[in-house]
Amino acid sequence: MTNEELWRAVLGQMELSISRANFITWFRHTTILSRENGAITIGVPNGYTKEWLENKYNHYILKALRELGENIQELRCVIIGDTPLASPERKSMDAVQAPISKQDSLPHIEQTTFQKPALSGPSLAPYQQKSFHSNLNSRYEFDNFVVAENNELAKAACFSVSQNLGVLYNPLFIYGGVGLGKTHLLQSIGNEILKNSPEKRIKYITSERFTTELVDSLKNHHIDEFKSFYEQIDLLIIDDIQFLSGREKTQNEFFHIFNALYQLNKQIVISSDRPPQAIATLEDRLRSRFEGGMITDISRPTLETRIAILERKMNEKNFSLDPASVRFVAENVTQNVRELEGALNRIIAFCEFHKIEPSLDATEKILSTIIAAKKQVLTLDDILAIITDFYAVTAEDLKKKGRKKEISHPRQVMMYLLRDELTLPFSTIGAYFHRDHTTILHAFEKIKTGKQKNPRLKEELSTITERLHYST
Ligand code: ADP
Ligand code: MG
Repeated sequence: MTNEELWRAVLGQMELSISRANFITWFRHTTILSRENGAITIGVPNGYTKEWLENKYNHYILKALRELGENIQELRCVIIGDTPLASPERKSMDAVQAPISKQDSLPHIEQTTFQKPALSGPSLAPYQQKSFHSNLNSRYEFDNFVVAENNELAKAACFSVSQNLGVLYNPLFIYGGVGLGKTHLLQSIGNEILKNSPEKRIKYITSERFTTELVDSLKNHHIDEFKSFYEQIDLLIIDDIQFLSGREKTQNEFFHIFNALYQLNKQIVISSDRPPQAIATLEDRLRSRFEGGMITDISRPTLETRIAILERKMNEKNFSLDPASVRFVAENVTQNVRELEGALNRIIAFCEFHKIEPSLDATEKILSTIIAAKKQVLTLDDILAIITDFYAVTAEDLKKKGRKKEISHPRQVMMYLLRDELTLPFSTIGAYFHRDHTTILHAFEKIKTGKQKNPRLKEELSTITERLHYST
């Protein structure tokens, strides 16, 4: 196994055992620089990552390496900036949200908001670049999207849009849980149009990236250029719009751009992890705009569909697993397609590394750790235990009426986590704390925005959630 293959396999394991946000934060732009005499050197983009990988994730990484049959006892990190590999493959990573695949360049980590602008316009926002970049990843096509009852309406709507730009469903709003294929479908629209009409101006952007660009353009007094750039687009694809929630200024600007495009019959396609009415603090006028178009959802695939997806992916990767193994994977990895693909990649890496033929035995062994992890469902008591331990407060303190910061902060963090991790209704959380649901909603929003603005709070929350996921 080359260093690249090995690291890809390690990332595959890490991805399954830590939260997506942490995974992207800490493993983006990392690579194996060398591996010899039981020591491994990882190239990392900055000192912060070095510290975290060496001190916090080292034994998880070493464990993953051991599971892959590597005898490595020591891990070191070296800072090499955020474009560690100059390999030609990396260029293919300019696409947003690269899916995990054998041909991928090394870190199969989504580039999403962290993505640097494409090569010709280094560190410039799109509206400042001379040439136009759609930001689409050519791997996402209608042709390689498996259609089944969980996604057929969404697929049909997306396909119609690609054939009737701006006239049929405008805006088109697709929602569904993570890893169910929203980004894939959204980008397929753009790729399909470019096949026949390469002159069309198509822009794919995540709402987080959009916000960052907007804030920068305001800061640099480029807001007019920013707006006129967006207003010249034929198809604007905004992924994960839920991140606009609570950002008034961004919503306001987005609303104006939206209206300008809409009036010109330009197409807008939006995705979200939930329906518009469930996006808290989304301005009413934006919500009603979304509701004025076509809204459709993607749900979780059934067992048959999961099997069909695995078969399709094996075909693409030129790999074959026996039917019993395929069924075993599909029965045990049920929540989302990204994990399904991740499990398959892990099996491929394992078999290649050990030079063994895939079998049900091997599959069971490889997946046993994932399955065990999935079975551990977090509970309110898990969160309570971590909060009381982390902040050194008691369960009684948390339920009392006191407003002292030493108590109210942990209480709000716990309210936030109950919502964010367990997706409990605000009213249920309220009942637990003897408070009404608006208090909980307020606490949730406060911690959520605080996390975006305050790096220390962000780190605090990462530590708590890491403990939460590892301690069980
Ligand atoms: P989301 O944006 O909903 O979180 P993605 O579009 O990123 O999900 O999908 C996650 C991965 O699963 C991608 O690699 C995507 O290509 C793949 N995928 C999801 N649904 C399908 C499907 N129906 N057929 C083929 N691949 C799929
Ligand atoms: Mg997505």
